[in-house]
Amino acid sequence: MSPLTDEISKRRTFAIISHPDAGKTTLTEKLLLFGGAIQLAGAVKARGDSRRAHSDWMKVERERGISVASSVMTFDYLNTTFNLLDTPGHEDFSEDTYRTLTAVDSAVMVIDGAKGIESQTRKLFEVCRLRDMPVFTFVNKMDRESRDPFDILDEIEQSLALDVTPASWPIGMGREFLGCYDLFRDRLILMARGKGDVPDDGVVCEGLDDPKLDQLLPAHAVAKLREEVDMVRGLCPPFNTQSYLEGHMTPVYFGSAINNFGVRELLSGLSETAPSPRPQPSRDRMVVPDESKVSGVVFKIQANMDPKHRDRIAFMRLCSGHFRRGMKLKHVRSGKIMNMHNPVMFLAQDREVAEEAFAGDIIGIPNHGQLRIGDTLSEGEDLYFTGIPSFAPEYLQKARPDDPLKAKHLGRALQQIAEEGAARVFKPALGADWIVGVVGPLQFEVLADRIRTEYEVSVHFEQTELYTARWVEAVDDRAMKAFFDANRAAMGEDHDGASVFMARNAWHLNKAQEDFPDIVFHKTKEQT
Ligand code: GDP
Repeated sequence: MSPLTDEISKRRTFAIISHPDAGKTTLTEKLLLFGGAIQLAGAVKARGDSRRAHSDWMKVERERGISVASSVMTFDYLNTTFNLLDTPGHEDFSEDTYRTLTAVDSAVMVIDGAKGIESQTRKLFEVCRLRDMPVFTFVNKMDRESRDPFDILDEIEQSLALDVTPASWPIGMGREFLGCYDLFRDRLILMARGKGDVPDDGVVCEGLDDPKLDQLLPAHAVAKLREEVDMVRGLCPPFNTQSYLEGHMTPVYFGSAINNFGVRELLSGLSETAPSPRPQPSRDRMVVPDESKVSGVVFKIQANMDPKHRDRIAFMRLCSGHFRRGMKLKHVRSGKIMNMHNPVMFLAQDREVAEEAFAGDIIGIPNHGQLRIGDTLSEGEDLYFTGIPSFAPEYLQKARPDDPLKAKHLGRALQQIAEEGAARVFKPALGADWIVGVVGPLQFEVLADRIRTEYEVSVHFEQTELYTARWVEAVDDRAMKAFFDANRAAMGEDHDGASVFMARNAWHLNKAQEDFPDIVFHKTKEQT
């Protein structure tokens, strides 16, 4: 294996998907703890709080107790480099989450053992399914009264149409939760209660009949464990790596993130079975990670990540090659060469200069707005990576500056925010207002707060009569012109100058589609 292939095969780039409150933050923190990226449990939140204290717009996030911005955390464990991409759980920010999911190779789905599959779990899972993404499942909070594990497996299988197989089996639940039997490695792992201790590596057993189990567990618990495992092995197919990699089967781990329980097994599973960086589709060809030339795609832009650095960070997934600091890469959209003199990587909440990185890694590129979502950087080839969608907004409001003299400033702020991908911004063909479109209504508040603090423009959003927007296209310029002339009052442009049709209601949209069969209406737009 070449050194490049070796480095790439050690990488696991993944995201955690869950419904709010299932325990994603807690699990993330424990994963980082195992990876040595943070010293103390609680540090993710603690640092987060001190950082947030400086940043006013994050007040919204703090007040609502939701995590708005996603970030990247890199840590090493078991000779594996993990890149964990954080995704905001609140449904108002799902667009960002969708894009983040285009930059990972696998996912961990966290489920609350008492609640099972919830609405947001299902939505996010569907995004993973669109990409045939392999998914691990972690059933959390087994230290509380939970649903019966058979029930949970059944629900995952039925409601997600996914083959399930347990990777571990819980011994009791709630107060009686003693630990798990690791079905892949034949180990008994007991939970050390209370102190938040990291459980040890477990007791190696010669299968479930090993008399060690009788010594270590109360008689009724061993009997139940043997009976249940026997049953579940009869009900569920054995783990099949190929089926998992194709996104058809999920191994299910039971645990308690808050007690560090089950986290190590999850990490070993990811290290052993989760895919290393996968080939990425581009317009003209598949790009394989161990190609010698570097290429990458920007999937997220974030402004004001750290008040000490007043710049924007473009998050780029490296799709191929061995990246080194100081490289000159071609920005394919503009044809300009960019010097990578201070790329950053993210260790827990800290950022550090990245001296080198490999395909599958995520690097942050500070810039002043040259980089947009969907942009490719390469060592010269004109690659266009595909598959990063921009969603049609479901809520459209007018943005108005409180001070009319600040209209220009507001326009600039909105343009930047649109480029960042945080919202859609449309300039109607008639009138002077900006129309801002979002996927969830809470985003308006976050935007108003950001524009006030980052751009010093006081802004308010006003209801509109608009229902939805579609990007429109026609092969024939004349067809487009006819459509435009007939619908002038509903036409606009997005920040890239692409034509948009803004419908007043579903009927208006249907009518336009019927009357103009030559026009293609797109609900999503591939970033160009
Ligand atoms: P997120 O919204 O998915 O990020 O969820 P959090 O990690 O913030 O967890 C939500 C709540 O569940 C918090 O109060 C956690 O302390 C609690 N929690 C997380 N994991 C566990 C667990 O394993 N057991 C119990 N009992 N509570 C947990």
